[in-house]
Amino acid sequence: MSESISLFEGRHLIAGEMTVGEGGASGQWLDSYDPATLEPLGRVPAANAADVSRAVVAAAEAQRTWAKRSMAERASALRALAAAIRARGKEILELEARDTGNTIGKLQADVQIAAGYLDYFAGLGTELKGETVPATATGLHFTVREPYGVVARIVPFNHPFMFAAAHLAAPLMAGNAVVVKTPETSPLSGTLLAELCHATLPSGLVNILHGLGAPAGDALVRHPLVRRIGFTGSVPTGLAIQRAAAESGVKHVTLELGGKNPFIVFPDADLDRVVEMAVAGMNFSWAGQSCGSTSRLLLHESVHDELVERIAAKLRSLRLGSPLDPASEMGPVNSARQYERVLDFIAGARHDGARCVAGGARPSGEAFARGHWVEPTLFSEVTASMRIAREEIFGPVMCALRWKSEEEVLQMANDSPYGLTASVWTRDLQTAMRAMRAIEAGTIWINTAGTHFVGTPFGGWKDSGLGGEECLDELFSYSQVKAVHVLG
Ligand code: NAD
Repeated sequence: MSESISLFEGRHLIAGEMTVGEGGASGQWLDSYDPATLEPLGRVPAANAADVSRAVVAAAEAQRTWAKRSMAERASALRALAAAIRARGKEILELEARDTGNTIGKLQADVQIAAGYLDYFAGLGTELKGETVPATATGLHFTVREPYGVVARIVPFNHPFMFAAAHLAAPLMAGNAVVVKTPETSPLSGTLLAELCHATLPSGLVNILHGLGAPAGDALVRHPLVRRIGFTGSVPTGLAIQRAAAESGVKHVTLELGGKNPFIVFPDADLDRVVEMAVAGMNFSWAGQSCGSTSRLLLHESVHDELVERIAAKLRSLRLGSPLDPASEMGPVNSARQYERVLDFIAGARHDGARCVAGGARPSGEAFARGHWVEPTLFSEVTASMRIAREEIFGPVMCALRWKSEEEVLQMANDSPYGLTASVWTRDLQTAMRAMRAIEAGTIWINTAGTHFVGTPFGGWKDSGLGGEECLDELFSYSQVKAVHVLG
């Protein structure tokens, strides 16, 4: 990439210093470009193993002091970071929209969500309570919650700023230091977060590294001082992290992974809402690149044809355009890798005999001639064994399957290695409760889809993950329990 002062030049935050690190100094950089136009946007230094080690050692040093701070002091630091994020919200959003391709209208929420999680966990510090246990008549037996020390948090490309910032909150409040690894595509906003942490938090407490999964992410997971890992990303990477963690120590790993989420419509559902929410639940604002996207429509045969037609019409009406235009409802997919993956699934679905009823190609027009553009796409006549019905695409592609009986649809819903979310549409409470009990997933939406509710756990079952986040349990999970016995 040619040097230009207009291009964004990223930095790590290591040991309280904004730096290019050893990796950057030796010429290892990751280029970033606008997925809507393929114009270069900037670059970040790529951390090598020495950079990772320096960050972890600095975090361990800072953590010793941080753990001695009162809950009120920790809370006030988190709130200061939240305020700093809000103050630079516009700048963060513009960079994030250009770097990810996510459309800026809906993306506004990311800054508020990130700051909101810092405020939420700041208010929960005194919930890190222990228990007293009447184990003997004369002794005092109680538990305390202690931090792990250094926590690694590794984040994906779809909401890089929001995940990196929000994922600081629980570990910090529980008294840990954090080392974040940003994604290799769309890493630019990580430097803005690094600047804000540099300005508001004690030196070394948060370290932000850019770099590839290997060596940077792998070195972080394997570092002996890292005993707690929080990962958000794909199943194959989650498995690689579990293996690497197990090869380097006994480590507590949380995994927030992918989904192939069923959207189940019973015959008595409110079909107007179904059409609206089937599309909203797919998160086209980020080109369908959301773990919770309701990509698998399971439609009762009595409403199947009408819904396929109406959802297809709604997809055709979505307004594609520049991620920076507040009127755009969908931008490009994030990277060449994602683009090729999506096209491969579309070709595969056609080959397998599915019928493309909306989209399926690059949109026409000069504005879409370059960049990673794919139309919002819906396939019908999909069967449960087709690849398009089984694997997470992580793109703007939905598939519709037909069912006859409740038993059949619940079996179809669970016929997946994933178990992240499910959405159930019926006006009948008994039907909804039976479905809710039967479906193997960490989140069930009834007559809605997509929304996260702060304070309730978000986490996957089966191959979709381990552990729940966005709630009190996330805070607890960044502490370990110690039992204390006082006798005599
Ligand atoms: P990915 O697994 O390719 O990468 C995620 C992160 O892991 C990146 O920072 C990457 O550099 C790092 N990484 C890669 N290899 C590594 C290794 N060997 N060791 C350590 N780190 C490594 O995922 P992605 O393509 O960035 O994101 C898409 C995936 O994320 C989808 O599967 C999506 O469903 C999932 N996701 C899940 C949630 C959730 O909350 N469940 C949220 C968002 C995204």
